[in-house]
Amino acid sequence: MSKSLQAIRGMNDILPEQTPLWRYFEGTVARLLDNYGYRQIRMPIVEFTELFKRSIGEVTDIVEKEMYTFDDRNGDSLTLRPEGTAACVRAVLEHGITGGGQVQKLWYIGPMFRHERPQKGRYRQFHQIGLEVFNLDGPDIDAELIVMTWRLWGELGLRDAVKLELNSLGTSESRGRYREALVEFLSAHLDKLDEDSQRRLKTNPLRVLDTKNADTQAVLADAPKMADYLDDESRAHFEGLKARLDAVGIPYVINPKLVRGLDYYSKTVFEWVTDKLGAQGTVCAGGRYDGLVEQMGGKPTPGVGFAMGIERLVLMLEALDKVPEELARQVDVYLCAFGEAAELAALALSERVRDQLPNLRLQINAGAGSFKSQFKKADKSGALYALILGDDELAQQVVGFKPLRGQGEQQSIAWDALAAHLATCVVQG
Ligand code: ATP
Ligand code: MG
Repeated sequence: MSKSLQAIRGMNDILPEQTPLWRYFEGTVARLLDNYGYRQIRMPIVEFTELFKRSIGEVTDIVEKEMYTFDDRNGDSLTLRPEGTAACVRAVLEHGITGGGQVQKLWYIGPMFRHERPQKGRYRQFHQIGLEVFNLDGPDIDAELIVMTWRLWGELGLRDAVKLELNSLGTSESRGRYREALVEFLSAHLDKLDEDSQRRLKTNPLRVLDTKNADTQAVLADAPKMADYLDDESRAHFEGLKARLDAVGIPYVINPKLVRGLDYYSKTVFEWVTDKLGAQGTVCAGGRYDGLVEQMGGKPTPGVGFAMGIERLVLMLEALDKVPEELARQVDVYLCAFGEAAELAALALSERVRDQLPNLRLQINAGAGSFKSQFKKADKSGALYALILGDDELAQQVVGFKPLRGQGEQQSIAWDALAAHLATCVVQG
């Protein structure tokens, strides 16, 4: 096939076989966020390039090498969003909805774009559900974010497969002092650091902690620890968070090397990781970013948030066999009509039934096809019941009602009684 007729590498179609699981996942998260009082916000997919450079940080993987950037027709530099926080902060500032200390608890869902090497769990267009909370500065809200995700893993059956890693990056002052100590230590081991880390040491030294290079990791084992440099306020905040997680019984491990790939974090950072997906093990990540809003031109506004990767979580549900059985069945009732007059009656009848049972998943197969072929389709659809409407049924104003799964005789049901009958035998979600 010619290349222009293929999807772009790392950008996937999500086929009809896969969308039920996506919708199940997305629906579960949306319901949970609704229940905790979070409100959805929808931002554009494209923003000015400058927005991402300013918020994410110039010396980050995303800004240095992963952004899809292009010139608009008028010469403006635009970028397909690589993450949601920057745009969300831009939106709340632009609309003034965090002014005067107004609390906002927001969530969003949608595609993100990063030019990375495509592999399992890592794509160039991928999807996130993220949330951001503004104007709450206590550890209670950091805890709420984590508690909500813990509940989500519970609902999805994933609790045993994920692990929570926590760290505190402190305030910018304490991080500054730590940075100095780290630079001093790493400079003394410069020759043992990988090339990227040598460069980062000059531009963004904390990012060295995030290295995947084994030699550099070995050097880091003896490096100074952020925990020893935390200011009292950050320390108290971190203790407050841990106490709340303990109160709910959420297990965690402290990972002193957890710094996250974006520059804007302060105090709490966390990741939910799994060993079920190979190298792409982080399924949800976030933290506090108390300085970001101000850095982007707003009044000082505390913020905290996270984002989860939908592809990775969908992969996990599949890998661990946590796909709910009912997803296999997308049709409750399949109506087969034979003959022109019967088809008309079937359409009118099905609309009457839908009026009374708005949640019924009824598929109608009007159109050509022998009895046998229509029945095959009914069976293949996964429906629980087939309805049959031919000339005989038409004359008597009934339908044949045939259970497709398990035993049960075919019976005749009057049109007027059909909705009531279906209501008793189809459990509606
Ligand atoms: P990683 O360390 O895996 O590159 P990250 O730190 O870059 O992740 P974030 O920017 O924090 O990731 O994004 C939050 C979540 O979005 C990640 O934990 C992951 O689940 C998902 N994610 C990030 N990049 C990709 C990608 N290229 N493809 C699929 N999912 C992704
Ligand atoms: Mg990344």
